[in-house]
Amino acid sequence: MKITIIGGGPGGLYFALLTKKARPNWQIEVFEQNQADDTFGFGVVFSDDTLDEFLSRDPETYELIRDKFAYWQDIAIHFKGNEIRCGGNGFCGTSRRSLLNVLQQRCVELEIPMTFGMQISPDEIPVRFADSDMILAADGIGSQIRDARKDDFKPSVTLKSNRFCWMGSTRPMDEFNYFFKQTQHGIIIAHTYQYEQGKSTWIFEMDEACWQDHEFEEFDEEGSKIKLQKIFAEELQGHPLLLNRSNWRRFPRIFCENWWSDNIVILGDANASAHFSIGSGSKLAMECAIGLSDAVLAHGEKDIIKAFQAYDDARRTPCQIIQHNADVSLSWFEHMDRSWDMDPMQFAMVVMCRAKSITYDNLILRDAGFVQKTDDEWYGRHKRDTGEDLSQTRPTPMFAKFRLRDMELSNRVVMSPMAQYKADENGNPNDWHKIHYSSHALGGMGLIFTEMTCTSPDARITTGCPGMWSDVQMRKWREIVDFIHENSTASLRFHLQAGDLVFPNPLG
Ligand SMILES: Cc1cc2nc3c(=O)[nH]c(=O)nc-3n(C[C@H](O)[C@H](O)[C@H](O)COP(=O)(O)OP(=O)(O)OC[C@H]3O[C@@H](n4cnc5c(N)ncnc54)[C@H](O)[C@@H]3O)c2cc1C
Repeated sequence: MKITIIGGGPGGLYFALLTKKARPNWQIEVFEQNQADDTFGFGVVFSDDTLDEFLSRDPETYELIRDKFAYWQDIAIHFKGNEIRCGGNGFCGTSRRSLLNVLQQRCVELEIPMTFGMQISPDEIPVRFADSDMILAADGIGSQIRDARKDDFKPSVTLKSNRFCWMGSTRPMDEFNYFFKQTQHGIIIAHTYQYEQGKSTWIFEMDEACWQDHEFEEFDEEGSKIKLQKIFAEELQGHPLLLNRSNWRRFPRIFCENWWSDNIVILGDANASAHFSIGSGSKLAMECAIGLSDAVLAHGEKDIIKAFQAYDDARRTPCQIIQHNADVSLSWFEHMDRSWDMDPMQFAMVVMCRAKSITYDNLILRDAGFVQKTDDEWYGRHKRDTGEDLSQTRPTPMFAKFRLRDMELSNRVVMSPMAQYKADENGNPNDWHKIHYSSHALGGMGLIFTEMTCTSPDARITTGCPGMWSDVQMRKWREIVDFIHENSTASLRFHLQAGDLVFPNPLG
């Protein structure tokens, strides 16, 4: 079996060494356009879970990099003069250079030929590697192979709106720090962590308007560095920023619909990118390398397409889950200003839960004290706003009552409008709607918004949309509303719609 790997990043190298370790007689070769020691960027982070997976797959790699890891438990959120810590996060950082050197060293030990300083053009692949059974495109976010075969891989590429640049600093730190900074032109966030003794990564991110108004467009790397050093002087504690191809960029969100084309298979950033705010790009590339290696070892010799299919089956869903978390996290950073008026602990809680993969209950396991402080802050505000003292009974804030003028909700769980398209041709709601709304009400919702309910036949966007223009419809809705009021504590509000108009609630 002959395997050619294009791209010597974490994904390509890890696939190479895992596969060669299991099949020493296979020919596996790596081509990398950079020199062995070249690398852009600074540190990468891994969670404890990811490290455990690496340990189980290749203890030698793990042992080699263990000494170079910087470990931390705390995430510190710096917001309007407050430093808020949340513990129990179990992460480690290492430099990208160390990670690559270790992976390269393992490849050398396993006698995998690596050619550095050689860029492979997609056009030369069919001839130059005609005798390869499999070609791995692990050529990173700007993958030329993917772009040359875009009709086969069918990538979707979205350039996200925030601007970021990746710098380093000599400032040491014992925790992961988020520095939120209000400037005259908007909020700038620095995502920072130590990746080796006395070296930390600093990723600066801001929205387009803030970036334009600071006129970063006018500055080269050096100019941006000087400007950012001034803005973050207090946080840098006298340490300089370091540069390494630290240009301003916008994050390309990439996902390929198809993961192979003939005998070329794709992985890592080339295939699916995950925003740096969840620190999972290298993890994703290396976990996909594990999945692909397992699949190729199981089926590659007999049927390479079966191997690619097995890789796709094993990795597509986990990959999409990580990407979804990254998307949600990225979107929070694109709209940081929406949370800016929050109290400090609430803001910190939102930062911790922004990807929706960490929940309130999960945070209690990580750091019960952090959640307790957040709740205390909230009980204090609730008492100032309403006079009600919840500090002794301590309900979870989400399950505390909510009052707005004469409306009282039993909790703060709200069901948003969900179009069902199940009304009959006259726009009448039916048993479907009764069960849909009642089951959520009985499930404990504080407030239920109905789907778009139309005030005239021509206000509907489909004939399956329910209406409220006839007596029959009113009677059918009334049955549903009465049932919910008799059997649950849920409140109901109608989302009434005629063209662009939304009417107030007719039935309560
Ligand atoms: C600001 C920022 C911060 C990040 N922070 C983290 C983090 O904390 N944790 C984390 O896990 N990830 C992080 N990432 C993401 C991480 O760097 C990538 O997800 C990861 O490197 C992907 O690995 P890869 O092997 O797929 O691609 P890459 O690491 O990009 O490797 C691809 C390689 O292919 C080579 N190549 C490309 N084209 C050719 C060609 N034609 N011929 C030969 N060689 C070629 C390139 O030189 C490169 O070395 C971050 C990314 C950014 C931008």
